[in-house]
Amino acid sequence: MNTIVTKFGGTSMADAEKFRKVAEIIKADERRKYVVVSAPGKRFKGDFKITDMFYLCYEKAEAGENIDALFSEITCRYNEIAEELDLPISLTYELERIKNAMYNMTGRDYAASRGEYLNAMILARYLGYDFIDAREAVFFNNDGTFNAEYTNDVMSARLKKHERAVIPGFYGAMPNGTIRTFSRGGSDITGSIVARAANAELYENWTDVSGFLMADPRIVDDPKVIETITYRELRELSYMGATVLHEDAIFPVQIAGIPINIRNTDRPQDRGTMIVADSTEYDTKNVITGIAGKKGFTAINIAKDMMNSEVGFGRKVLGVLEKRGISFEHLPSGIDTMSVIVKSSELAGRLEYILNGICQEAAPDSINAEDGIALIAVVGRAMVKSKGTAAKVFKAIAEADVNVKMIDQGSDELNIIIGIEESDFEKAVRAIYKEFVN
Ligand code: ADP
Ligand code: ASP
Ligand code: MG
Repeated sequence: MNTIVTKFGGTSMADAEKFRKVAEIIKADERRKYVVVSAPGKRFKGDFKITDMFYLCYEKAEAGENIDALFSEITCRYNEIAEELDLPISLTYELERIKNAMYNMTGRDYAASRGEYLNAMILARYLGYDFIDAREAVFFNNDGTFNAEYTNDVMSARLKKHERAVIPGFYGAMPNGTIRTFSRGGSDITGSIVARAANAELYENWTDVSGFLMADPRIVDDPKVIETITYRELRELSYMGATVLHEDAIFPVQIAGIPINIRNTDRPQDRGTMIVADSTEYDTKNVITGIAGKKGFTAINIAKDMMNSEVGFGRKVLGVLEKRGISFEHLPSGIDTMSVIVKSSELAGRLEYILNGICQEAAPDSINAEDGIALIAVVGRAMVKSKGTAAKVFKAIAEADVNVKMIDQGSDELNIIIGIEESDFEKAVRAIYKEFVN
């Protein structure tokens, strides 16, 4: 029988009622053999994610504060789920152990990972599935990077021993056995790792929206669902802020060519979005596939006469950033000017120092930095075949009275990136959406 790997996000696992929905979905198709879960998310507006509560517990314990009250809130949430599901399990021992570990400074990542660990234990018991601790099958290298091949070997061998299992997302182990997590939202990556290791026919990612939407639903009202999207388009959009799937979740399934299906736990009847390797069999009527964007960038603008004919000018500028471990996002340039777009958070506290460094290394005529820049990516595999896409983007932006500060188009014509002022961000996203979608 073929296998489907399912991953349920935090909002899909927030309380007992959601657990029942999740179990119904899993039981509806017996190919759904391996299940990856997040920690319980928000149950209502203003509620707390368990992961955030664990982070807070760790910080308090580190500061020598008492965590009893906060920890008992976490305990209540798990107990409530277990009790409402009538599960004959007691988490008291596990929770005591975790609390002691926090007082003993077992690590920030350890603390955060317990959210998924406990949730996976409860779901495994509820479904009657085995529990596989991700600590025993997901591995990181000493430098903190993910060890993909070793993980795949161990995870594949481990899955063969379990016909059906629940695996906590988000974390794994360092070579010395301590817990390490992926970045926030990282359970999506675990789901992808398990799908590859299980040689699954499909990786289903269940969340609280009916698929990948053409724009962020918090900015555009009721955006259209994208029916099919390629791995590459999705990576562009995820990287640029479409947070529905972690941007690194693509890699494990891409190696194995496994499609991802984004689905809605509250509306299982909706088909959701298919994320596929190759688009040739999935033609699209739309010129653009989606729009995403992020705030928080700084443009370092550099001018020097005859810059274009000065051999090595760009290298000198980028060398200054490299020496300080700063990566850049975009590099639009003219004959006598270039701009380097960098995340403002990477420059925090050292901007002057970097500008001085560039002055010393590259001796520009002028240099300045402009923060408060937002980037918007307009992404579409069909753009390469259709004329006038950029013109349409700029018409929409101009009509919305938004000033464009930077333009960049990837050489593969998969995306157009524009830089604007942060205060214009939402307005610009809405204007571009309206121009392309009616
Ligand atoms: P989960 O808890 O299931 O992992 P996330 O909160 O990580 O869910 O991701 C789902 C959320 O992503 C949606 O509720 C939505 O607010 C947000 N989102 C942002 N951009 C998009 C987009 N383009 N399409 C769908 N959802 C998006
Ligand atoms: N629980 C983790 C987080 O909140 C991981 C995840 O949900 O994917 O980031
Ligand atoms: Mg998520």
